[in-house]
Amino acid sequence: MCADIVFIGGGPVGLWTAIQTKKNNPGLAITVYERHETYQRSHVLRLQHASLLLWAKTNNDEAEAAFFEEVTGNKDLRQVFARSAMAGAVYVATNDLENALKDYAAKLGIKIVYRKIESPDEAEKLHPECRLFVAADGARSKMREAIFGADALDETTLQRVVEMKYKADGKAGTLGKRGILKTAKIVNSQIFEYVGREKNGATPVTLRFFVDAETYDKMPQATFKDPLAHDDPRLPPSLAEDIATYMAVRREKADERYQPGSGKLSKLTLSVYRAKKFAAKRGDAVWFLAGDAAMGVPYFRSLNAGMIIGSQLGGILAQDLLPRTGKVRAYNLLRPADTTLEFMGAKGKNTGIKALDAFRKIDGKNPASLLKWSSRDRVRFRKRPDSGPDN
Ligand SMILES: Cc1cc2nc3c(=O)[nH]c(=O)nc-3n(C[C@H](O)[C@H](O)[C@H](O)COP(=O)(O)OP(=O)(O)OC[C@H]3O[C@@H](n4cnc5c(N)ncnc54)[C@H](O)[C@@H]3O)c2cc1C
Repeated sequence: MCADIVFIGGGPVGLWTAIQTKKNNPGLAITVYERHETYQRSHVLRLQHASLLLWAKTNNDEAEAAFFEEVTGNKDLRQVFARSAMAGAVYVATNDLENALKDYAAKLGIKIVYRKIESPDEAEKLHPECRLFVAADGARSKMREAIFGADALDETTLQRVVEMKYKADGKAGTLGKRGILKTAKIVNSQIFEYVGREKNGATPVTLRFFVDAETYDKMPQATFKDPLAHDDPRLPPSLAEDIATYMAVRREKADERYQPGSGKLSKLTLSVYRAKKFAAKRGDAVWFLAGDAAMGVPYFRSLNAGMIIGSQLGGILAQDLLPRTGKVRAYNLLRPADTTLEFMGAKGKNTGIKALDAFRKIDGKNPASLLKWSSRDRVRFRKRPDSGPDN
């Protein structure tokens, strides 16, 4: 199977970059390797229209219109973009976006092969004729580690988060802005709540506790795949207290009926990271990093950044007249500029979150503050850790 360019990873950014490359140069034979035949993830993404247009090649054809319509509900995004000063955004489930991209890629003649690639060596052996490879295999990219080493990333942690996911019986409401601000004054950490839509008689709820470094380090390891129970006795006391307090407020003020035993905790850091190099020569081949394999920014921006940069990479890869080393140089030059802008945006949002945190702490001590629960409520809501959400 001959290919001019081989992609490892058919997630949203790998597929998007392959599509952009093909649109810029339809004569190229492109193969994408994806390990999962059916996409696994369904989390909802905020995708800005601009991310589908900036640096992107547009063809004005039916396949493009069908893709735009499927993902955004509009056939001609450029018109939407031109009409709206804010340009707008859509909310789309990851697997829906991936399926739409897969259909679009197939229409353009991009070959998708379902196979897990273990290493760059394996990819190069499968394609001895190919000189251009793109690693778009996600944040924990194996390709990146094999090519650039374990120390490939520059990373700065912005926040440490403990996430609690659980279900409530029937419909659960939100505390609303005022309720959240009032509650923020009686807890140790800053808390964000995300209340989903009721489905099959239950409402999914996610609470994010932005904890300090000490609390984070004391919390035992816990991941989405291997979470802790909400009442694990090893939880740091200040976190256990916050969980119990916040749940007590939600029970009363959001009319929530917690499903006993459904609470699961995991911990994660929100960081900005980027590879020290985005492309490199490896023997006769050159390798490029794309999407989460190359960089990441928190606060719902990574996919957008990955797609904008993927459009530019597509333009570089498609240039017949640019030699391989020129492509490497061009991509390495271009990526730092884009990632710097994204980093500035992420750090700006982080500063806003910290300012809010400082405000809640100061105003929490202000006896004249109007935005607070009554002293009777405060006493009732403040929970000891061992009372837990079930109590
Ligand atoms: C809960 C959550 C919410 C988010 N919300 C937003 C948001 O609102 N807006 C936003 O911009 N971003 C958001 N993001 C980030 C966004 O999901 C990612 O930036 C995006 O998925 C990155 O796409 P990718 O193609 O680079 O990598 P991935 O989505 O990780 O895809 C990598 C693909 O490579 C495949 N693969 C991996 N290894 C191999 C291998 N060895 N061989 C073959 N295939 C392989 C995987 O199966 C996968 O399909 C969110 C992330 C999470 C977790």
